[in-house]
Amino acid sequence: MKSFIRSLATISTTTSNSILQKALNSKIPLNTWTRDEVSAIFNVPLNDLMFYAQLKHRQFHNPSEIQLCTLLSIKTGGCTEDCKYCSQSSHNDTGLKATKLLDLDTVYAKAVIAKENKSTRFCMGSAWREMKGRKSALKKIANMVEKINNELGMETCVTLGMIDKQQIQLLKDSGLTAYNHNIDTSRKHYSNVISTRSFDDRLETIKNVSDSGINVCTGGILGMGETIDDHIDFLHTLSTMDKHPESLPINKLIAIKGTPIEQELKTKYKDRVLTLENILRVISTARLLMPNSIIRLAAGRYTMKESEQLLCFNAGVNAIFTGEKMLTTMCTGWDEDIAMLQKWGYVPMEAFKKSKANEVNEVIVNEDMSLEVQTLQ
Ligand code: SF4
Repeated sequence: MKSFIRSLATISTTTSNSILQKALNSKIPLNTWTRDEVSAIFNVPLNDLMFYAQLKHRQFHNPSEIQLCTLLSIKTGGCTEDCKYCSQSSHNDTGLKATKLLDLDTVYAKAVIAKENKSTRFCMGSAWREMKGRKSALKKIANMVEKINNELGMETCVTLGMIDKQQIQLLKDSGLTAYNHNIDTSRKHYSNVISTRSFDDRLETIKNVSDSGINVCTGGILGMGETIDDHIDFLHTLSTMDKHPESLPINKLIAIKGTPIEQELKTKYKDRVLTLENILRVISTARLLMPNSIIRLAAGRYTMKESEQLLCFNAGVNAIFTGEKMLTTMCTGWDEDIAMLQKWGYVPMEAFKKSKANEVNEVIVNEDMSLEVQTLQ
């Protein structure tokens, strides 16, 4: 075991220092963050923020591993919710054709292709408000989960809208790994984006999933006209959940023609352009606040340059969606992604085998912000 000391001179305030000390010195994920603490971390100079996030990442994860996931739309369009960003909402005139629930064989065949291409988590999304009154569909989806789990050994995730305790139990019994239900954005900005279900409805579904013992996958979409305060509030909500999300998707909005948000970004929010700096701040802060979560770069990744994606990995991302499509939007394909990962020295994470951190054993931040990093040889 060896150690080295790096002196950190660029942090401006003692308050930031003590909060960073708390984030870096803790050996377990904390969920007692105050909003001021989240804000202080978010506002650390970006160069240092990313360095700290990378250190934290290496305490909790194998820094070479990236999880590859593939997301299939198993029931597209016609959703009764009015999410202003979504091509699948029946409130939005996007020209998308609604389809019925895909059958088991079709879904299984897509999962086989995903596995052959090294994806280890297979996610299935349906454009529904909720699972209430969908007993037969839920059973069919449980069968999909069971077959993919048992025959392919893949991790499975579904996103089916609001779900109650009884319904989630059926999915748990079928072997579901994770259930996705995003909070989307901050509580304050949420009502600017969706009116047909509340932020608290979202939290209730997340609680139902968490209580069932299934892993929670929840995150949001950046670039919907939110402010810096909204980024901070969004991170505060996630990092103070009773249990941090096992999976935290960060989407970059694809402004789809025919959605209200596409127009609002040109008018109401024209001065609120999402910057790479703020994407990196959100990811780095999330990594420091929720060190054990898998942070996944989700929709919109295909619009980012390789160099920008590499910065996101350096900030703490360790999962990507890859494959033919991402629900109704484009996605970078497997071949391109695997070539990119190889070039940068990453390897695909194995299913159910996220390996342990293998580099940084311990970080100790002293009061003067000198840093002792103990590494395993
Ligand atoms: S609930 Fe999901 S599918 Fe329905 S409109 Fe909102 S984002 Fe789209």
